[in-house]
Amino acid sequence: MNGSPKQLYVKSFGCQMNVYDSRRMADTLAPEGYVETAAAEHADLVILNTCHIRDKAAEKVYSELGRVRRLKEDAAAAGRRVVVAVAGCVAQAEGEEIIRRQPAVDLVFGPQSYHRLPQLLERAAHGGKAVDTEFPVDDKFDRLAAPSAAAIRSRGASAFVTVQEGCDKFCTFCVVPYTRGAELSRPVAKIVAEVEHLAAAGVREITLIGQNVNAYHGEGPDKRPWPLARLLQRVAGIEGIRRLRYTTSHPRDMSDDLITVHRDLPELMPQLHLPVQSGSDRILAAMNRRHTRADYLDMVRRLRGARSDLALTSDFIVGFPGETEDDFAATLDLIDAVGFSGAFSFKYSPRPGTPAADMADQIDEDTKSERLGRLQAAIDRHQAAFNRGCLDRSFDVLFERTGRHAGQLVGRSPYLQPVQVTAAASLLGEIAAVTIVEVGSNSLFGRLVSKAQTSVSEPDLLAAGV
Ligand code: SF4
Repeated sequence: MNGSPKQLYVKSFGCQMNVYDSRRMADTLAPEGYVETAAAEHADLVILNTCHIRDKAAEKVYSELGRVRRLKEDAAAAGRRVVVAVAGCVAQAEGEEIIRRQPAVDLVFGPQSYHRLPQLLERAAHGGKAVDTEFPVDDKFDRLAAPSAAAIRSRGASAFVTVQEGCDKFCTFCVVPYTRGAELSRPVAKIVAEVEHLAAAGVREITLIGQNVNAYHGEGPDKRPWPLARLLQRVAGIEGIRRLRYTTSHPRDMSDDLITVHRDLPELMPQLHLPVQSGSDRILAAMNRRHTRADYLDMVRRLRGARSDLALTSDFIVGFPGETEDDFAATLDLIDAVGFSGAFSFKYSPRPGTPAADMADQIDEDTKSERLGRLQAAIDRHQAAFNRGCLDRSFDVLFERTGRHAGQLVGRSPYLQPVQVTAAASLLGEIAAVTIVEVGSNSLFGRLVSKAQTSVSEPDLLAAGV
């Protein structure tokens, strides 16, 4: 590294995959002399790590780029050069178009290319523009620098680890198979090495992530493909790792062995994000989800048979082409039948190049908005009931950060709810038993209990949630 550190500002949009990717970009640039800054106006390199899932994603990126362009101009007026890069799924989808529409952009690179950032920056340093949206044949993770212990500690006791990328499911509304490519699973040994590195620096909770994480089939030490269930068991055995989660799953890949680890693996937290999108068989078929409503409900029954207090969250798309009031009523009915502890819900919006974008019977915006309001009210009702069911209960909380008020720490319950507690800062990064004394709209409030006790396997939360 030469001279004073260069400032890197990365803004992540969208899912946890992007948050993880952004961190790995920062790790890759650390040996090049970059340190992260939270202030875009001080940055020498600005990276927007974009997401294509949300409505008008590309337009939002262009509007953000307008702000970045002004920063770049202000810096240039002060004699300082700022390099602007667009990464992620919008970069993959739009490619050179981004530089054409916003000439302030120097680099455009897709999710499979960020390990080549140092070379791309080298080109930009000489005034060149670069676009890299190739799908490489090699594993980009092999080429990424590992984060330093200090960087890991600054990010807290909970970490994401990408184990799988891409998707072969081709849901008719989704761009992921086009922007992230086919399913690719990392080998078990590399994941284990990464988790050991994180655990040695103090990480206690690992969330294994992938676009279709439960389709994981990476090569095991025995040279055979290992399913996610086996990977979870292996990672649970790593010293220091106390909690495991995985996301995001597809119902089709919820195998029997994976359901069984929810029963048998105490480190696996009793919370699962299992997107269903709709409760109508007709719409599920039009979405190419390849499962029925009955399949989903049966899976929920089997999962809760394995882990009775399992908190389930989901994704919903409202107003998919052709959705009738009866279809929507079936979705509301499914929400009541499952009793989700939370959900992400969106109005359908067409993604260019996806089959659903060309379907007849697109639903008008007013109908979508009205249905979304009803759906979110149903989800809120179940979430509030689930949270109320936590009152007076005690369970372990992993403390992740300080709260807004002095002496306050914020952690996560086994069910992923934020829990606020008055506690010493020395508990940061630690797990302690907490009794819930108050339930707010977005978080729980608790007090430390003196002796460790967990009651996460008690079944009455489920009853409270439905
Ligand atoms: S499973 Fe469907 S929604 Fe999920 S990433 Fe794959 S294509 Fe997209």
